[in-house]
Amino acid sequence: MTLVTSKEIVTKALNGHYAVGAFNAVNMETAQAIVGAGIEENSPLIMQVTQTTLNYTDPEELAALMKVLVDRVSIPIALHLDHGRTFEVVMKFLRLGFTSVMIDGSLQPDGKTPRTYEENVEITRKVVEAAHAVGVTVEGELGTLGQIGEEITEKSGALTDPDQAARFVEDTGVDMLAVSIGTTHGLYKGKPFIDVERVKAISEKVGIPLVMHGGSFTPDEDVRAAIRFGIAKVNIDTNIRVAFFEAVRDSIVKIEAEHEKADRAGIPRKYDIRKILEPARTAMQAVIEDRIRVFGSSGKAE
Ligand SMILES: [Zn+2]
Repeated sequence: MTLVTSKEIVTKALNGHYAVGAFNAVNMETAQAIVGAGIEENSPLIMQVTQTTLNYTDPEELAALMKVLVDRVSIPIALHLDHGRTFEVVMKFLRLGFTSVMIDGSLQPDGKTPRTYEENVEITRKVVEAAHAVGVTVEGELGTLGQIGEEITEKSGALTDPDQAARFVEDTGVDMLAVSIGTTHGLYKGKPFIDVERVKAISEKVGIPLVMHGGSFTPDEDVRAAIRFGIAKVNIDTNIRVAFFEAVRDSIVKIEAEHEKADRAGIPRKYDIRKILEPARTAMQAVIEDRIRVFGSSGKAE
C-alpha cells in the first residue's frame, strides 16, 4: 500500500526543487501507463481524474482499478480529483478514497463564468474543512487559467496576483495553489509566454507548493525555471492524449494494410483490439517518463 496524500509528496518536491507530475487517467491503459512510468523512473506520482470523467465511466470502477494498481507497487502515489467544481463532486471523490482533491473555485460550476474572490473563498474554505477532517489534501485555484485555444497575457488580467494569492491561502487554508502564469489547457496557438517572475513572487508570498496547469507542450526550459521558483506539481493531460491518438492512428493504418493484403490472398481478416491499445499504452508511458525526467522527480520515490 503506497497510497499517500499529495501534500506529502508535493511538499517534499518543493523543498527538493523538483515537481511531481499529475497525470490524467481515463481508463485502464492510461492508468497502467502512468503507474508503469512511475516505476520505471522510480518517481512519486499523482494520478488524477477530472469530474467530466463521471460522464464517461462510473468513477467507482475507475477508482477500484486505480487502487489495485497503487496497492501493487512501492512508489508513493496520490489519487487526486482534478478541477472539482462543486462541493458535491468533491464529497463523491472523498468517499471513493481519493487522498487529494482540487476545488476550482475560480469558475462557476459551468466551467466558464468566473466566480468573485469572495465566492471562491467561500466554496474553497468549505471544501478545506471537509477534506482536512479526513486528512485529504486540497488544491485551490486563484486567477483564471487559459482555456483551450485562449491566450493569457498580463493585459487580459487573468494572471494570479501575488498579494491576492497570499490573502487567499490565509483565507482558505488550502495546501496547494493552482496559479495562472501564462500556461493554458490543451494545445497552444502560438509560442506560450510563461511568467516565471510571477511564480517567484507568488511563491515567496504564499510559502505553499504551487501547481502548473496546462503543462503539456510548455517548453522544457520554462517548466524547469518555474519549478526552480516554486512550482511543485505539474499537470499533464494533452501530451498523453496526443501520444494515444498518434499511436492508435499508426496501428490502424498498419492493420488496414494487413487487411488488404489478407483480402488479396483470400485469408480472413484479423481484428485484435490489443494490437491497437498495447502500442498506445507504450507510447503514453514513454511520454510520461520523459515528463518525469524534465520535472526532476526521477529516483525520488522514497
Ligand atoms: Zn487544469
